[in-house]
Amino acid sequence: MHELSLANRLVQMAEATAIEAGAQRVIAVTLRVGDLSGVAIDALRFAYDVATAGTRLEGSRLELRRVGVRVFCQFCQREVELPSVQSFRCPVCNTPSGDVRAGRELEIESLEVE
Ligand SMILES: [Zn+2]
Repeated sequence: MHELSLANRLVQMAEATAIEAGAQRVIAVTLRVGDLSGVAIDALRFAYDVATAGTRLEGSRLELRRVGVRVFCQFCQREVELPSVQSFRCPVCNTPSGDVRAGRELEIESLEVE
């Protein structure tokens, strides 16, 4: 299960950060999840509960911040947000673009510790 190894990695990173900060416990983890990250949210939430058991993150909240897909449009010369991941075309001028600038994120944005 891909999400479990993912959750384990996140927990390791968060725990290392907590230890570095001298925190006893992590209360909440905010994660940025891009629409192109390919993560199954329900599976991730379940895996998170499993992965945090017995760590400083046990019982913590997992908060997810969705990140939309942004591509750079050569024609408009700027970043535009795609209305859906079905079509990689600029919503303004309809030029195709595969120059993804945001949407692949899967990273810890912040930790709430005590
Ligand atoms: Zn455009």
